[in-house]
Amino acid sequence: MACHIVMLGPPGAGKGTQAKQLAAARGIPHVSTGDMLREAVQSGTPLGKRVQAVLDSGRLVSDEIVADLVRERLARADAAAGVVLDGFPRTVAQAQTLDALVANGDALVVVDLAVSAADLIRRLSRRRVCQACGTIVALNDDDDDGRQACVECGGALVQRSDDREEVVRERLAVYERSTAPLVGYYRERPTYRPIDGAQAPGAVAGAVAGAIDEAAAVIGQER
Ligand code: AMP
Repeated sequence: MACHIVMLGPPGAGKGTQAKQLAAARGIPHVSTGDMLREAVQSGTPLGKRVQAVLDSGRLVSDEIVADLVRERLARADAAAGVVLDGFPRTVAQAQTLDALVANGDALVVVDLAVSAADLIRRLSRRRVCQACGTIVALNDDDDDGRQACVECGGALVQRSDDREEVVRERLAVYERSTAPLVGYYRERPTYRPIDGAQAPGAVAGAVAGAIDEAAAVIGQER
């Protein structure tokens, strides 16, 4: 029986950073639909060619495309104990698809990272990603753009094309319109856990781990 963890929250809330750490700590896969789509674009696959313009605009890819990606990914053997889902679901229709996928008795824990809009814009403008290993880095005020090498592997740090300010504003608007309603979809579930994402990353990680243990205990009682 799998227990999947959903990381919910606006762009820049720290979903990717937290999801990566959590997956490594629990020895389960990190499943990021954004990473899967960016890889498809970089490899120039037919899917990549279809979605490139949508990613660059900050809007959402169709529910069918991401549902297919997630369905295939959850069917793989390494997902049998559960995965950390990062960036999926992003619409109520996707959440319904996910509920149907786990209807075999798998459990869902939903961790919702909340951060104010002003903080999100500041964080996204400072976010850089290592081109080689994918490590996510936040530039400090005094780093300016001088810090160009990844501390993990020495790879080049780059800004995601959709972290440019005009695209960020569109992504936040899309979040409010399409993804924020998911909070209402999940809020009444005993396995929904809101977390203050404005804390330092280590404190957020501690709160996330505690929330998941609490939710897992609820699931254990229900079974
Ligand atoms: P992310 O890395 O999660 O911020 O995703 C980057 C971009 O990929 C988003 O702005 C969307 O264009 C697309 N994307 C990722 N996940 C989804 C999803 N679940 N539904 C629709 N589009 C998605």
